[in-house]
Order: sequence, then C-alpha cells, then structure tokens
Amino acid sequence: MRRVVCPGSFDPVTYGHIDIIGRAAKQYDEVFAAVLNNVNKRGLFTVPEKLDMLKEGVSEFGNVRVTEFDGLLVDFCRENGIETIVRSLRSVSDFDYELQIAQMNYRLSGVETVFMTANPQYSFLSSSLVREIAQHNGDVSSLVPPYVQDRLRKKYAERAGQ
Ligand code: ADP
Repeated sequence: MRRVVCPGSFDPVTYGHIDIIGRAAKQYDEVFAAVLNNVNKRGLFTVPEKLDMLKEGVSEFGNVRVTEFDGLLVDFCRENGIETIVRSLRSVSDFDYELQIAQMNYRLSGVETVFMTANPQYSFLSSSLVREIAQHNGDVSSLVPPYVQDRLRKKYAERAGQ
C-alpha cells in the first residue's frame, strides 16, 4: 500500500490544491489531505471549516482521506504508516523553501518528499491571494469552488459586521 500525505494550511482550499491532490490520488493508493492545526498561527478559517471545505473539494476522489494534524509532520507520517510527503512547486521561490524542509524531514525520519509541478493553469494561485481578492469583493469564481466562495463571502461579511 503506497500511502502519502499532502499537507497544508488550506486556508481556504483552492482549485490548485484540488488539482495536486487529485493527481497524487492517481499515482498512489491512499492520500491523506492533512490540514495543519497550528495553535501559533490562526488562519481566516477555523480548522473544522477548512476540513469541511477540503472534504467537499476532494469528494470525487475515492482514495483521499481528509484529516488534521498538529506537531511534526514526520510524527503524523510515522503514526499513519506514511512514507512519502507530496508537495507542489509553483515557482523557484517555492523550491527554495521546500528543499530545506524536505531535507530536514528526511534527516529527522527518513520520510521522502516528492515534488509535483503545479498545473500552469493554477501556478499563480495561492490561498492568501484568494483571501485578499475576496476581502475586497473581487471575483474568485475561477479560483475556488462555489461553496468556498460562499464561505468567504460570509466570513468577510461577519467580520465587517463586528
Ligand atoms: P502551506 O502553508 O503548507 O504551503 P498551502 O495550503 O499553501 O500550505 O499549500 C499546501 C500544498 O498545496 C503545498 O504543497 C502547495 O505548494 C500546494 N499548492 C498551493 N497552491 C497551489 C496551486 N495553486 N497549485 C498547485 N499546488 C498548490
């Protein structure tokens, strides 16, 4: 059984994330899409909200499990029998950052990291840009699924009303 993890913040999930997870699901037997629960870094969405949106986003793939993790990713891998981390590269700057993390994870645990190149259709896309556009009522319909758009609209409306 070849089991991998696609870890991330998913704040919120975008079509870029769904593309990578779907491609990993074709290559491996089982994919964990794992949301980092970082107590030091609060996102726009809560972890349960991120999990809901991610579950909906990957529902078409039969071999993807959505879950959360905290602490070290390599510990999550060990606990779940995962030997490979799948990350995506959108740009050279992604590579600079990812290389160091991948090497550290290998040193800590022997867990391998496999890089998939981002689909050029989505290589400019990040959750942070989506949040910024949505916050100013811009059109994110080609960047995130409709239920994510709804959640973004509600979240910023709530914030504006506070
Ligand atoms: P992190 O904060 O861990 O980078 P993200 O949620 O931003 O979390 O990303 C999770 C994974 O999804 C990373 O491997 C990232 O490179 C990948 N990813 C993010 N956006 C895209 C995109 N537009 N196209 C392809 N992969 C993406």
